[in-house]
Amino acid sequence: VPLAGSVSRLEKLLRAEFSRLERQAIQVLAGASLERARSEEEPLEVDPAAPLDKRRLAPLLILLGLFRARQLAAAETVIDEAFAVGRTQVLKRLRRPDAPEQPATAALPTVVLQRFRTDVLRLHSDLIAGTARSPGVERLVADSATVGAAVEALTALLDVESFRLSMFAEALVHAAWIAGFRSGAVDATVAALAAGEVPQEFAWTGPDDTDTCQPCHDQFKKRVVARSLADLPDPTTICEFGRACRHAWRVVN
Ligand SMILES: [Zn+2]
Repeated sequence: VPLAGSVSRLEKLLRAEFSRLERQAIQVLAGASLERARSEEEPLEVDPAAPLDKRRLAPLLILLGLFRARQLAAAETVIDEAFAVGRTQVLKRLRRPDAPEQPATAALPTVVLQRFRTDVLRLHSDLIAGTARSPGVERLVADSATVGAAVEALTALLDVESFRLSMFAEALVHAAWIAGFRSGAVDATVAALAAGEVPQEFAWTGPDDTDTCQPCHDQFKKRVVARSLADLPDPTTICEFGRACRHAWRVVN
């Protein structure tokens, strides 16, 4: 599956960026300048017993801002890739590989990016202000008397929050692929109608069991002609479980 590859590539990249953030942040806590911490130079020796200089918060915040920018850039690239995969797959399936994009379908990757931008900003602000799971960098700098204590708290913070990178990667790739599918479905339908042909319809697919919410259950009764994106809503916007929805659209044979 090309998508599984995209998820694990994005996850690996984000975890590598997180490790880099951690290395550089430890250097900054140990007294290195931002420039020095970000260089390839031999790292500074960390003296755990040294008193923590509280002014180290400023360069630490800059490092968090740099991580946020990298996460956003990676998200944009991967959204475009997964969107193209989903769109190409459905266009091929509907035998309309050259169906032109509409303004609304062409705008979908941007819509997905906006949605996941919110996640990126939330992670960033949680790393600063903290969560129920751990104090953020503001408090850990304020509360740590020594470099050692600050390094320990920072390592724990990044460790505890790192699961969000995996969730982010998986949800983002999935959302972009679905957006690509919806885009291709609408473009192919519009092209078929313009050519005076009967377009193929779409139906709901996935489990219909006791765990299925009512809105998702109701979708199974419908056959949809995808004249617009509104005819083929994003499953996560229908489902009571949002991003945990187990359903998708399929082409009716
Ligand atoms: Zn569902």
